[in-house]
Amino acid sequence: MTPEALWFDPSEILIGGRWQAPAATLGLDSPSTGAEIARIARGSTEEIDAAIAAARAAQAGDWGRMPAVERGRILAKLGALVSENLDTLAALEAADVGKPLRQARADAVGLARYMEFYAGAADKLHGETIPFQDGYTVYTLREPHGVTAHIIPWNYPMQIIGRSVGAALAAGNAAVLKPAEEACLTALAFARLAEEAGLPAGALNVVPGLGAEAGAHLAGHPGIDHVSFTGSVGVGAAIQAAAAANVVPVTLELGGKSPQLVFADADIDAALPFLVGAGVQNAGQTCSAASRILVERRVHDEVLGRMAERYRALRVGPAEADLDVGPLISARQKEIVEGYLAKGADLEAVARGEIVANAPAGGHYVAPTLFAGAAPDHALAQEEIFGPVQVVIPFDDEDEARAIANGTEYGLVAGVWSRDGGRQMRLARALNAGQVFINNYGAGGGIELPFGGVGKSGHGREKGFEALYGFTTLKTVAAHHG
Ligand code: ADP
Repeated sequence: MTPEALWFDPSEILIGGRWQAPAATLGLDSPSTGAEIARIARGSTEEIDAAIAAARAAQAGDWGRMPAVERGRILAKLGALVSENLDTLAALEAADVGKPLRQARADAVGLARYMEFYAGAADKLHGETIPFQDGYTVYTLREPHGVTAHIIPWNYPMQIIGRSVGAALAAGNAAVLKPAEEACLTALAFARLAEEAGLPAGALNVVPGLGAEAGAHLAGHPGIDHVSFTGSVGVGAAIQAAAAANVVPVTLELGGKSPQLVFADADIDAALPFLVGAGVQNAGQTCSAASRILVERRVHDEVLGRMAERYRALRVGPAEADLDVGPLISARQKEIVEGYLAKGADLEAVARGEIVANAPAGGHYVAPTLFAGAAPDHALAQEEIFGPVQVVIPFDDEDEARAIANGTEYGLVAGVWSRDGGRQMRLARALNAGQVFINNYGAGGGIELPFGGVGKSGHGREKGFEALYGFTTLKTVAAHHG
């Protein structure tokens, strides 16, 4: 990270428009070297209380009264500021998360795009009139929830702030953001840019801290009207339970075990970069990672062989070296992924990427590994690994492909590679997933496209216009005028 990238004091928290020193701090480590790169806040329950009170005051004041078009203008300015600072934001995200610089830069571009999209949407979110009995006029109002909590993970901080905080603010909510203790620099940078864009004091408050402390306190706080969470299933369930005590809605995005289905009639040349890329991007620490590749038996060996070639060419190293794959976020994550590699001992490890010789010894590097021979119920084919590990599983026909694809507890994303239009349509309906991609995977991140899961992948939809509905509540007004 260049010194210019960290142009602010990362230990300060933002409450009610005032940057302040926290009561306690934590070390923030570089995934690439293992060394401490900054001190960040260890947000306390009192600081969370103060952030919620500030958000409430903003909601009752300037921010709550601001016309939608003005909110949109501020978000547009914020998007422009993000665009002006792409390199700085990318440097911060790369240093903090460990992702290769190019991937971090793409995330910064995504953040700017979210602001642009939600800026334009802010004054286009409206209710409806409903035909009703004679003598009535009935209409609906879309109103913000009030104060929204955003508990986000470390894997894509900028993207997730964009889709979560961006949509909440556009819909007129005030927000309290608790970034992850492993990566929070771009959340803080974003808040500084929001201030520069003219966001009123208290509309966005940022308090980094530990999940079990600041996070749990925020999720169960009676002053919160909606909780938006992206992270693990266990924590998501705990957050839903905490929010249930206050009977407030939650949006949960909890990852998955997403498949890509490759049929013999597919354009395999076109599929290959997506098959591997969607498994190793961000070192596999992606909610929608394609960790299972299901291949029709007739082309299984060909696809496996060509994926293996790509794996052998993967270079793993520090974020700043901007190779194909960076380190994992932490020593703990590396231990989890190595545990899965050990569980794969009964499978065929077909190919591995290479950790470059000069990768710093303290970094959390794992060689990407491609496995074959896993039965669909194998742990590596069922559990979310959150590392650069993929399994290739053969199938004989469409029914079997569908059954394997749907045979996990998750349902976030699925990809279908086939030239058969009927099959594309059948599977689009039959696959358990919040998004199905046909002859692509991820649609380049498509910030316009509603995103979220079924089953243990969570519920509620983020991204696109749909997210705005989730950040509002609908009021029906029935006027009897005779
Ligand atoms: P991961 O396992 O990928 O680190 P987590 O689900 O543990 O993901 O964390 C995602 C976010 O949830 C982080 O901001 C973390 O601090 C927060 N968090 C962790 N535990 C809790 C909890 N019990 N209550 C609220 N937030 C939590």
